Amino acid sequence: VFVALGTGIGSALLIDGELYRGAFGVAPELGHLRVVPDGRPCPCGKNGCWERYCSGTALATTAVELLARDPGRSPLLRRLVAGDPGRVTGQRVATAARDGDPVACAAMDELARWLGEGLALVADVFDPELVVIGGGVSVSAPLFLDEAREHYAATVTGAGRRPLARIRTAQLGEAAAVVGAAQLARELAHRP
Ligand SMILES: [Zn+2]
Repeated sequence: VFVALGTGIGSALLIDGELYRGAFGVAPELGHLRVVPDGRPCPCGKNGCWERYCSGTALATTAVELLARDPGRSPLLRRLVAGDPGRVTGQRVATAARDGDPVACAAMDELARWLGEGLALVADVFDPELVVIGGGVSVSAPLFLDEAREHYAATVTGAGRRPLARIRTAQLGEAAAVVGAAQLARELAHRP
């Protein structure tokens, strides 16, 4: 399973080395699995979709929510955006989290939690051996991946009694999704 955490979640699924596209070619829409009941609205029309909680944009949204609740708690992030919540980006939250800003770290924890719980859902259906995380946020993986693994390990069905998928970041980082799309186009072009 390849999950790209960019502005949303892009995903691809390899089964026995083949890309799985579903009966109608739209699978897998992992980013629109409902992970958070009654969660944030999604442009797809549902609420609580996975990608609303696990992307750079989501990280910024969470940080802005937390900042609104307790502005004094985040001197660093507030300085980074010069007090303007509109300037909070995933990248700035990651920078602040790296320096220990409490709100930025809390936003990272939130991302880690939903990433792990979403991966547990995915694992319940597909039982993958390997999950590769790519996309913009993956460069900040040291800030959330271990914690996401713990949430995944704790919520997957059969927790403690089954082998767990390895969860890695893509070597191509942000470029992985584009390279994957090119690969898919090449395969489709060569299909009889
Ligand atoms: Zn959605």
